[in-house]
Amino acid sequence: MAGCQEGRKAGNNPMIVLSGLDLHEIEKITDELKASKFRARQIHNWIYLKSVKSIDEMTDLSVKFREQLKDVAAVTDTKIKVKQESADGTLKYLLEYPDGECVETVLMRFDNRANLTACVSSQVGCAVNCSFCATGKRGFIRNLTYKEIIEQVLTIQRDTGLKVTNVVFMGQGEPLLNLDNVLKAMEIFNENFQIGARRLTVSTSGIIPGIERLAELDMQSTLAISLHAPNHEVRRKLMKIEDKYSMPELKKALKTYIEKTGRRITIEYLLIKDLNDTLGSVKELVSYLHDLKCNVNLIPYNPTEKNDYQKPSNNSIMRFKSLLEQSGKKVTVRLERGADIDAACGQLSGKVKN
Ligand code: SF4
Repeated sequence: MAGCQEGRKAGNNPMIVLSGLDLHEIEKITDELKASKFRARQIHNWIYLKSVKSIDEMTDLSVKFREQLKDVAAVTDTKIKVKQESADGTLKYLLEYPDGECVETVLMRFDNRANLTACVSSQVGCAVNCSFCATGKRGFIRNLTYKEIIEQVLTIQRDTGLKVTNVVFMGQGEPLLNLDNVLKAMEIFNENFQIGARRLTVSTSGIIPGIERLAELDMQSTLAISLHAPNHEVRRKLMKIEDKYSMPELKKALKTYIEKTGRRITIEYLLIKDLNDTLGSVKELVSYLHDLKCNVNLIPYNPTEKNDYQKPSNNSIMRFKSLLEQSGKKVTVRLERGADIDAACGQLSGKVKN
């Protein structure tokens, strides 16, 4: 029978997990089982395009071949430990990998859009420790492998029967501190899930060596920078990473990135009452961004239990937006999704709440 038991075969030989394998790797399995390469293509389609939960559902394979395959392989070894649904339709999953570590992944749905966006985690915990973030409080535990990253999207697809159209690396962890696995996962999203590069977004707290590497690679996906502050003092308070990669150096790296890739970047700005939503803040922000090719995404702060920051009033959010727009930038205010299940930005902690 399919499900969580698959991938945890008793005995000496662990099951091969099919999720995350590329066509070439699946062909090695079909070769071993003396089946044709066409069978490998069929299995690949069942995993990535049809999101089956079990080998039994691969109905264009003969019953005999499915039995052979089940002896050596399983669809997944990742468990859904907790699933929560917000009043707005957002789904949050707490997933458990075979070593017992857990991460959260979120599916955001918007009534007026066909897009289904998965917000994936790239690490268990995070070393960056931003003061507003629930994940940062856990500290760094380990990197996720690229297979564990893509397993998050596969789990969503298997569970909902829906096809994810966009992926944002905005869950737990700093993607640019696990860049090899993130890049490999992006390649697989692109090739196996047929999600276009422009529908993939990597969000960073501003890890300059990672940004430089993405510039060299001429990345065509969207780069989002969690700036969150108009000046050094406020950024230091929110993000310790400012001590290592300061705003002037970050700006230099971003200019090079934009020059090399020709891509417009997204600036993420968490709006916190009385801290960075003032008139002075917006003026400083306009000055910092004036020569950067960027859009700005304002994110009204979602309170967590672990700090005293507060959400600004709607008037203050709209005033900030309007002043920024007057400087010629395209500005959006992120719709709040999943706040009632702690799935909104900065609320993921990777822990089961009692
Ligand atoms: S906001 Fe991102 S980079 Fe900062 S601590 Fe949280 S997960 Fe890490």
